[in-house]
Amino acid sequence: MSVPTTSLPGTMRAWVVARPGPLETRPLRLVELPVPEPGPGELLVRVLACGVCRTDLHVTEGDLPVRRPRVVPGHEVVGEVVAVGPTPERPDARRPAADGTLAVGDRVGVAWLRHTCGECAYCRRGAENLCPRSRYAGWDADGGYAEYTTVPAAFAYRLPEAYDDVDLAPLLCAGIIGYRALRRASLPDGGRLGLYGFGGSAHLTAQVALAQGATLHVLTRGTKAQELARRLGASSARGAYDDPPEPLDAAILFAPVGDLVPVAMRALDRGGVLAVAGIHLSDVPELVYETELFYEKELRSVTSNTRDDGRELLGFAADHPLDVDAHPYPLDRADEALADLKAGAFAGAAVLVP
Ligand SMILES: [Zn+2]
Ligand SMILES: [Zn+2]
Repeated sequence: MSVPTTSLPGTMRAWVVARPGPLETRPLRLVELPVPEPGPGELLVRVLACGVCRTDLHVTEGDLPVRRPRVVPGHEVVGEVVAVGPTPERPDARRPAADGTLAVGDRVGVAWLRHTCGECAYCRRGAENLCPRSRYAGWDADGGYAEYTTVPAAFAYRLPEAYDDVDLAPLLCAGIIGYRALRRASLPDGGRLGLYGFGGSAHLTAQVALAQGATLHVLTRGTKAQELARRLGASSARGAYDDPPEPLDAAILFAPVGDLVPVAMRALDRGGVLAVAGIHLSDVPELVYETELFYEKELRSVTSNTRDDGRELLGFAADHPLDVDAHPYPLDRADEALADLKAGAFAGAAVLVP
């Protein structure tokens, strides 16, 4: 490990998923853990801000199976590199580091995807998001609900300078996944886009789509979310089960509610595409072929993202200032931030600040 610029403490505060279950059973515990050591090719990062994502709620409540007992959640980390792990003995030529020049003092982003194999058929064809050996921050490895975390340098992002730490954090999952979902939805130029659910990811995706010339209709419960949608430029904002004012060329389902799939499919125009953005969705009811699939309507899922998606979104954000609706919480109140997310207490994204 290279010598850090400031001496590091031995331990840190971190939240662990002690026993996955409903939030009411207090599955998260705030504990004292050793500050992690960066392995070969890894960076040790002092967390400056960590976004609270719906996936953290799925990991905490057990909707996603346990992959690492007592994992520290969090995969939207903005942090400062404080140490660099040893150089790997056998550098992998197939996997050029995203940025081999990251050094102590740099501000970096740690996102959901933290490892892919680099050699399977999916990785080789540029679809590393489908790699069967992929690993994820805050699920397979400890993430950012802590004062420090580690990240393989090849999976760390450089960040646009014009944003502060708290505003950058939600871009690292909410922003990136929404960006991929928008691409998966194949919205034609100047097309009509419907967003079902309007939270951390949707409010960023909306701005990307509007900047690209889309007409936007938002379908979501909650007046706060509808107000935010209108303020950001949506042409209409209605209830999640309402009809949009015109047929949609594409739609993205952000709410983890399978019941909305047929609703959104019916709202599509001929040839329209619905992309489901979430990692977890309640069961999809039976679809009616004639009204919900015929005329070449398509239903697509979105699985994680590639590093290219991440770099593209961050590049877009550097050129088009995004209005991030961030709600800061002190690290000690992560459980409260998750409860507020679950309850829909805010429209945008919660961000933990150590
Ligand atoms: Zn692979
Ligand atoms: Zn996420």
